[in-house]
Amino acid sequence: MVNTMNKKRTISIRHPQLIKFRNTLREVISTAEDVELGKLLDEGKGLKPTESDADGKRVRDISDKWQKLETAWKKSLCTCSLCGSRSSNMTFNTHFKAWFCVTCYKEHQKFYDTKAREGEIWNAEDVYRTPSTEWWP
Ligand SMILES: [Zn+2]
Repeated sequence: MVNTMNKKRTISIRHPQLIKFRNTLREVISTAEDVELGKLLDEGKGLKPTESDADGKRVRDISDKWQKLETAWKKSLCTCSLCGSRSSNMTFNTHFKAWFCVTCYKEHQKFYDTKAREGEIWNAEDVYRTPSTEWWP
């Protein structure tokens, strides 16, 4: 699974019923995430982190779980990392290790292409500062 995430790719669905199915599935996953976040909120209720070290640790653990869940959602194939669209075909950006809707991806690719051509973006590892579009392949 991890190895396949090193390639840029677009997952496109055109069949209207499959699009509907995919979007419904994304909503189900989103709802499951909301339920988990709600449970974490409930776990944190009544804790007094300023008065108790144990409560403080508990709040940090809950906060850590919350961050992980949010990051997993934002980087998932279910939603565009930029505009939040849940109903688009998505392209995987290998540099950011995240999915973007095809519209956002193309817009940003054009931006990075232009900036690289103008010499404003270069490969971070490259001492000669060769223009690079590595951030948005
Ligand atoms: Zn987008």
